[in-house]
This record gives sequence, C-alpha cells and structure tokens, in this order.
Amino acid sequence: MKEHYRVLIVGSGPAGLTAAIYAARAELPPVVFEGAQPGGQLTITSEVENYPGYVDGIMGPDMMEIFRKQAERFGTDVFQKTVTEVDFSSRPFRLTLDGKDTVTGDAVIISTGATARFLGLESETRLMGKGVSACAVCDAFFFRDKKVAVIGGGDTAMEEAVYLTKFASKVKIIHRRDELRASKIMQERAIGNEKIEVIWDSVVEEFLGDDAVTGLRLKNVKTGENSDVNFDGVFLGIGHTPNTSVFTDKVDLDENGYIVISNGSHTSVPGVFAAGDVADHVYRQAVTAAGMGCMAALDAERYLVEHK
Ligand code: NDP
Repeated sequence: MKEHYRVLIVGSGPAGLTAAIYAARAELPPVVFEGAQPGGQLTITSEVENYPGYVDGIMGPDMMEIFRKQAERFGTDVFQKTVTEVDFSSRPFRLTLDGKDTVTGDAVIISTGATARFLGLESETRLMGKGVSACAVCDAFFFRDKKVAVIGGGDTAMEEAVYLTKFASKVKIIHRRDELRASKIMQERAIGNEKIEVIWDSVVEEFLGDDAVTGLRLKNVKTGENSDVNFDGVFLGIGHTPNTSVFTDKVDLDENGYIVISNGSHTSVPGVFAAGDVADHVYRQAVTAAGMGCMAALDAERYLVEHK
C-alpha cells in the first residue's frame, strides 16, 4: 500500500466502488478500504432484480465482485482494512487503519453504508446467532421446514419473508401497525405467498428460549394483550443505522447519524465527500448509491483541480 493517494475511499459497496471506477479513470488512482463487510450490504442480500443492465437479475455478491474487478482494472488499490480513526483537521487528510497504519490523501470519499437495526432487547442480544438473525440469505438454510418470524413492515421485511419461504414451512411477518410500509409489488409477493401470514399491530416484548430461540412474547398494541408464539427463528427487517461512528465530530451528521451533504456530495469539510446509504436514508438503492458514488468522484476531481 502506498503512503499517500489522491483519493481515499472508505467503504466498498456500490457507492465506493463506483467512485473508485470514476476516480481511477480520471487518473486519480484511488484506494478503497473495504471495511468489515467487503462489498457492503449487497453481499448479504439475495437476488438483485432492479439494477439496470441485468435482465435476469444477479446475486448481490456476484454484482459486487464485478464492481470491484472493474475498479481494479483501472488501477484502484483495494484493501480489506477498516478505518478506525480519521483526521480531517489538516491537509493531507489522514486515516488510521485497523488502529495501526496510517495513510494520507488529498480527498476522501465516505461510502461506509448502513447496518441492519436490531430491537435492542436483552433477550434478542443473548440469542443472536442462536435463532436471531438480520440476514435471511445468510441463515435461511438453517430453518428448513421450520417456523420463523420476520419483524418489520418494509421492503426488507417482505424480501426476507419471501426468501425464507424457500426453506421454512411457515413465515409470520410481525408488524407494529395495521398497514405495511413496503412497496406494492413487494407486499403482493409476500401476502400472495401461501406460507406467509401477517400478525398485525404487534410488537416484540421478549425473545423466548435459553440456548436457542423457541418463540416470541408479543404484545398487541391495540388490545394490550400479550401472547407467546412458537418460532424456531426470528429475522429482523426493521431498517438500518448509518455507519458513521468514526466520523462523529469530524463531519456534520444529521439527528439520525447520516452524513449531511449539499451541492452534490460535499460534506461540511471541503475535500471530504460522501455517497450512498451513509448519506441517504430515503432511496437506499444500489443504483442510487452507485450514482452518488459517481457524483462524489466527479466532485472530488473538481476539488483537486481547484486546489492543486
Ligand atoms: P424501512 O424503514 O422502509 O422499514 C422499516 C420497517 O420496520 C417499517 O415497517 C417499520 O415500521 C419497522 N420498524 C422500525 N423500527 C421498528 C421497531 N423498533 N419495532 C418494530 N418495527 C419497527 O426499512 P427497510 O429496510 O425495509 O427499507 C429501506 C429502504 O430500502 C426502502 O426505501 C426500501 O424500499 C428499500 N428496499 C428495497 C428493496 C427492493 O427493492 N428489493 C429491498 C429492501 C429494501 P413502521 O412502518 O411502523 O414505521
């Protein structure tokens, strides 16, 4: 790894790798630090059917491998390292990697994405990996012919539920309201599946089980009644938290922790740009993240020209 790069890219999802392709082709050879989840969230999703260009769909991990190879083809360095500290107070910018090495850069593109959210119950934490999961693609296989629950009413929950029907005998979606948030097409796919049922107006009070999940204690928010329902597994699909802890007090974040950008991809620090889910809680799509990555690379290029 070089000591200094023109462009440092933090994160390796569609935003980071698209930024890398554009920066590399602009002869600003970048480096990408992949972080703890190389390829980002798409590597734990199932088939991507809505990325233009893939008529028959493509598996998320395969798509991200193609992105990475394309970035490397134009001279991007990619390292499986995590940025643990940043110094944006002087130029060049400095990043600390895995608590040891440091690297400097003239511009930084932050594309660290977001992470699946959990309910935060003690029983949930205790049973994590023992029947509690936030990734159907990773763990559905373990629930062949079993009964599972999916918490949430958005597209993620619908997608998880439909994916789980490939393995599980029964999938119950548990939603805290009487109306789903998910897009119509995803709702139809889920509700139209004979293995899927929705438990409305219900929240999880407790995850049941000692060494493995055996069920959920649910509370009906309308009647106030509690009920214990047996499940072999529970999948969370309740949204995401932006991966910005290392950037707290370094760039401006909004009240939910997302990086604030303006005028394209500019953060509050000139020369530091952000792209993808880390700065976008609205669209959160692979294609919008890739588009934002492109914008960040073009903004970085312009910044570097102006600040020779
Ligand atoms: P969303 O924020 O859209 O939905 C989260 C869901 O979880 C909501 O139904 C919400 O309930 C519920 N929820 C949140 N917190 C809690 C809690 N503490 N307890 C119980 N329920 C809770 O997140 P998603 O991850 O589903 O989707 C994010 C974005 O990604 C969306 O724009 C979506 O369209 C997109 N997406 C697209 C996919 C695709 O096209 N294939 C697949 C997955 C996501 P409530 O509705 O009451 O707020």
